[in-house]
Amino acid sequence: MPVNVLFSARPALWPVYEPLLTKGLNDAGLDFELSTEFEPDQVDYVVYAPNGGLQDFTPLTRLKAVLSLWAGVEAIAGNETLTVPLARMVDHGLTQGMTEWVVGHVLRYHLGMDNHITVQDGTWTPDAPPLATERCVCVLGLGALGQAAVQSLAALNFQVIGWSRTPKDIPGVTCLHGADGLKSALSQAVIVVLLLPDTPATENTMNAETLALLPEGAQIINPGRGPLIDDDALLMALNSGQIGHVTLDVFRVEPLPPEHPYWAHPNVTVTPHIASETRPFTAAQVICENIRRGESGEPFLHLVDRQLGY
Ligand code: NDP
Repeated sequence: MPVNVLFSARPALWPVYEPLLTKGLNDAGLDFELSTEFEPDQVDYVVYAPNGGLQDFTPLTRLKAVLSLWAGVEAIAGNETLTVPLARMVDHGLTQGMTEWVVGHVLRYHLGMDNHITVQDGTWTPDAPPLATERCVCVLGLGALGQAAVQSLAALNFQVIGWSRTPKDIPGVTCLHGADGLKSALSQAVIVVLLLPDTPATENTMNAETLALLPEGAQIINPGRGPLIDDDALLMALNSGQIGHVTLDVFRVEPLPPEHPYWAHPNVTVTPHIASETRPFTAAQVICENIRRGESGEPFLHLVDRQLGY
């Protein structure tokens, strides 16, 4: 009997993924059917994104696993109709894109690029920026994306602090964890990057109390998820000067509503959730490898801990 793989994502992605998944599953030597439609009780695997519309997994009685095309799984991790393994996306292309975006925005702050690019008023202030060795950057979240970011920042000689839930050991990076670790990290960092998942435990990680720990004028870059930040507390901290500038790629409501104060704030850069994205060529390989594993009884890669939510 063929392995039935349901593709449930934005319809525009189907023509992109269909040939890549077909090749990957053929290369894996599998007898398979790949489609955007099956009878529910005939589905073995779902290639999933939240915008595919699938919410009730109860009728998928033959389902073996759900393979997310997205790294962030907050939209599905708590779905009680899902009782089979859920794998999230860890994709080299996605990671590379995020690393480039994070490093670019850190360098924008570090080098004070806006002072010379957006302000062209005839003022000649020949103050060279400090070296990266003199600048402490903190990355909250040391998963697939955070680890790649801290390694690139460390390679540029920044003083890098990374923070995660469990202890880590990354060469060239001061790794902290737990509540005390967060306090220590934030009290030193002049640039903070948020690469945490959206879970009940990470909501409002940046709040009035933690924002106050940062050195005055610190800058924050959020490509993680909107709920990581208490928006009201951030706006107050921006208005008081406690926070100098923020770059926000993700928001509690997306698209960010036109009336939201972030759009007009002079010390906020809004980007439209473009820090990175899953790259079909490399992502299809990850999906096919997980289906191959499922069919040969090997453990799936990148499984989500449904209790923790990531
Ligand atoms: P991972 O699951 O690999 O890593 C998550 C990291 O966060 C881990 O280091 C984990 O700690 C840490 N963490 C989780 N909960 C806590 C907590 N309560 N306290 C401290 N640390 C915690 O995720 P990725 O690196 O792949 O992705 C991170 C997020 O980036 C995604 O969840 C998604 O929201 C976002 N993203 C944004 C994109 C964009 O374009 N803006 C694109 C792709 C992803 P530990 O290692 O100890 O488990």
